[in-house]
Amino acid sequence: SQCPWGAAKGAAMSCSLADVMSEQLAKELQLEEEEESAAFPERAAVAEGPFVTGENIDTSSDLMLAQMLQMEFDREYDAQLRREEKKFNGDSKVSISFENYRKVHPFDSDSSEDEVDWQDTRHDPYRADKPTTTPKKGFIGKGKDITTKHDEVVCGRKNTARMENFAPEFQVGDGIGMDLKLSNQVFNALKQHAYSEERRSARLHEKKEHSTAEKAVDPKTRLLLYKMVNSGMLETITGCISTGKESVVFHAYGGNTNEEDKVIPPECAIKVFKTTLNEFKNRDKYIKDDYRFKDRFSKLNPRKIIRMWAEKEMHNLTRMQNAGIPCPQVVILKKHVLVMSFIGQDQAPAPKLKDVKLSSEDMKKAYYQVLHMMQQLYKECNLVHADLSEYNMLWHEGKVVWLIDVSQSVEPTHPHGLEFLFRDCRNVSQFFQKGGVTEALNERELFNAVSNLNITADNEVDFQAEIEALEKMNEDHVQKHGKKVSAFPGDGDPPVCGE
Ligand code: ADP
Ligand code: MN
Repeated sequence: SQCPWGAAKGAAMSCSLADVMSEQLAKELQLEEEEESAAFPERAAVAEGPFVTGENIDTSSDLMLAQMLQMEFDREYDAQLRREEKKFNGDSKVSISFENYRKVHPFDSDSSEDEVDWQDTRHDPYRADKPTTTPKKGFIGKGKDITTKHDEVVCGRKNTARMENFAPEFQVGDGIGMDLKLSNQVFNALKQHAYSEERRSARLHEKKEHSTAEKAVDPKTRLLLYKMVNSGMLETITGCISTGKESVVFHAYGGNTNEEDKVIPPECAIKVFKTTLNEFKNRDKYIKDDYRFKDRFSKLNPRKIIRMWAEKEMHNLTRMQNAGIPCPQVVILKKHVLVMSFIGQDQAPAPKLKDVKLSSEDMKKAYYQVLHMMQQLYKECNLVHADLSEYNMLWHEGKVVWLIDVSQSVEPTHPHGLEFLFRDCRNVSQFFQKGGVTEALNERELFNAVSNLNITADNEVDFQAEIEALEKMNEDHVQKHGKKVSAFPGDGDPPVCGE
């Protein structure tokens, strides 16, 4: 009744042959998939159910379907090849390898055919193309043929043309092509409808973004995850552990690799960095000023920047691993997807420090662990966590604090590195002091204990001022000498760590 075109009177549901066919195809595919249940086993449905199910697979995307089928085919082809190889070689001492004929090579060819660089796209991909300008014919005439805006026919045509200005989602049909003339009344009703549609659509989109992992797991990401399962590296992706602003984390059971020396942990966490543009903006001060990424940041390409976050997390975790700090172990990095070992057991992640109720004994233990880790992080890894709080520390096996979420971690010589460290210290200090640890240093003492900087100011304002002065000194030094040499006492050159 809201639609100004009026309700269609008992129009039979029209359905093209193509629709029927594709629906049938989709059903067949789903059936097949259920039978094999190889790549995304539905049987593994646990409490939440597996993350990638038949329904979840976006069968509306033909390209995606085709790619998935191709991968499935390749895998089967390889299995057959292996059988033939075995048969061919038999017990012979000299064997011939069919290796080169295989289709699936575990993550070798980085299929960059799907790469679309931001700079390369002429048009903003997030904005639909403007509708073609409307033909003005009929509006201006000659001599006695001059028409006014009150001319019914012209006005009607004009209204039809104005429809093109509605939101692109609003299907207006080819009014111009068929020389449709809309009366003002109908036009205004339509306009109202279009506006409310626009608002409704905006609301819908908003909801979608907030409610699910949908945004992070776009078809390309899903394909990437599918590849990991298909290659056998992961056995199952069971479900989503966390949906954050910048990332979505999934749980998976590990599989095998062909590489002899590499062992996939029995349980993995998959951190998918979101490929949306809105969120990473407020983080760019971490990466923009990080000299390790300086050359690369100049080419502002959102896709690459998001990958850089993943890459950064990987490098930082590796440094921490080398220093013996309890943290997830990196399994593999693929574009914006980082696979690491899972902290927790049987799909249940270790609780965050903010969520566990610790005895005063354990609280004290946890505090000293955190103090020690902060020192190790600073001295041995040359890193400041920069988002350290009870949200990013997990209490594992009821006895050890594990550090996670280090994509934003920076070196202490980062232009804001010491400010980040001070913020970390404040979080840690407050958490443990509130938690009843009387031994816990205050934020300033903790800062000095971690950095060895011996800032003497006895109040927060002066302390912060000194921190900023130090940062400035270091920056000036960099400006003058063109290289990063720490201006801090006893801290020499930043150590080269695992990169
Ligand atoms: P975000 O940037 O979204 O905060 P995090 O790295 O902190 O990303 O991950 C979000 C949540 O996912 C964590 O709070 C933790 O509960 C869970 N998580 C992340 N990594 C792991 C892991 N390796 N093992 C277990 N749980 C993890
Ligand atoms: Mn976090």
